[in-house]
Amino acid sequence: MAADGVVDVTILGAGPSGLAAAYYSGHRDATVRIIESLEQLGGQVAAVYPEKHVFDVAGYPKILAQELVDLCAEQGLQYGAEVHLGEEVQTLERVNQNGEELLAVTTNAGGPYFSRAMIITAGHGAFEPRKLGVEGIDEWEGRGLHYFVREKEVFRDSRCVIVGGGDSALDWTLGLQDTAAHPIALVHRRDRFRALESSVNEAKQLEEKGGVRIMTPCEVREVHGDGKIEAVTIENTGTEETEQVDCDALITLLGFHSHLGAIAEWGLELEGKRQIRIDPMTCETNLPGVFAAGDVAGYPGKITLITIGMAEAAIAANNAVAQIRGEKVQPKYSTD
Ligand SMILES: Cc1cc2nc3c(=O)[nH]c(=O)nc-3n(C[C@H](O)[C@H](O)[C@H](O)COP(=O)(O)OP(=O)(O)OC[C@H]3O[C@@H](n4cnc5c(N)ncnc54)[C@H](O)[C@@H]3O)c2cc1C
Repeated sequence: MAADGVVDVTILGAGPSGLAAAYYSGHRDATVRIIESLEQLGGQVAAVYPEKHVFDVAGYPKILAQELVDLCAEQGLQYGAEVHLGEEVQTLERVNQNGEELLAVTTNAGGPYFSRAMIITAGHGAFEPRKLGVEGIDEWEGRGLHYFVREKEVFRDSRCVIVGGGDSALDWTLGLQDTAAHPIALVHRRDRFRALESSVNEAKQLEEKGGVRIMTPCEVREVHGDGKIEAVTIENTGTEETEQVDCDALITLLGFHSHLGAIAEWGLELEGKRQIRIDPMTCETNLPGVFAAGDVAGYPGKITLITIGMAEAAIAANNAVAQIRGEKVQPKYSTD
């Protein structure tokens, strides 16, 4: 990054398309800043299906989704991109600085961040974890309420209540067995889990050994504590009986929802309701210097797949860099 904080390319969203755009921009010697609303890299792949296998990415007959995005991150960040996690973009303005026209972006956490071009790789929009319908739930964030498990050690000897019925809830009920205190309470509002049958069966076996306590059909009704979570009230919605369960860590794994948010207010032409219209030849939007790639980018016949997003990222990055430098777009091989 230059001393004045201006980079060549701002990339909005660190999913596979954003990480590919970072690689191709860096490969063309462009400086890059990535802004991502989640606290982690990898987009949908890491947030929604990290434990599943992906079979259709060129060169990988079968690869674990998390491993794929870890490799994308290694490749994309090798040129030293500046990464801002946990920041959702808000405003976009065009400013003049030292005779140069720049794009200025602000986020809910900071900015303005200046760049010469922008590539929007925002997928379906900023991801937010789905929250429990308990009044005042936000107040417990950072005080025992978790939406992700990043480091198992954080939960060492903690009394954990995990809420959810999908793969993540089951995976972490099993994955924290060697870390958290036993039993780990697994709370789901239905009797049937959506997770892999083998994981559900393993949890049931662990219940017999005291490692897990499966609570269904149950919902968390209240959170208690003084400064940090100490217990939760859980209602069995079948019998309407309630129980207070001691708890240091309430881990809610209820999936994510997404919204284009402020990006939709920037004057970008949309393709349908959720995509930004691009010219597929260049991946540029109707706003000069603003490109888009991946799931967020739309044109007739668009297919939303990782491979397509990566290809669009290559087109967007090469065109953005050529435009900044006033050059013709030409491929540059990476072979060394
Ligand atoms: C269950 C499931 C299975 C799938 N399986 C396959 C498969 O087998 N093969 C395949 O090719 N595809 C698959 N897909 C689709 C694939 O995951 C997407 O095509 C791919 O993730 C798109 O990548 P992306 O980088 O464009 O967007 P995303 O992965 O959605 O990443 C976008 C990122 O931008 C961030 N962002 C958005 N808005 C903002 C903002 N305002 N400020 C800051 N950050 C923002 C988001 O938080 C997110 O991290 C699957 C999808 C799902 C849901």
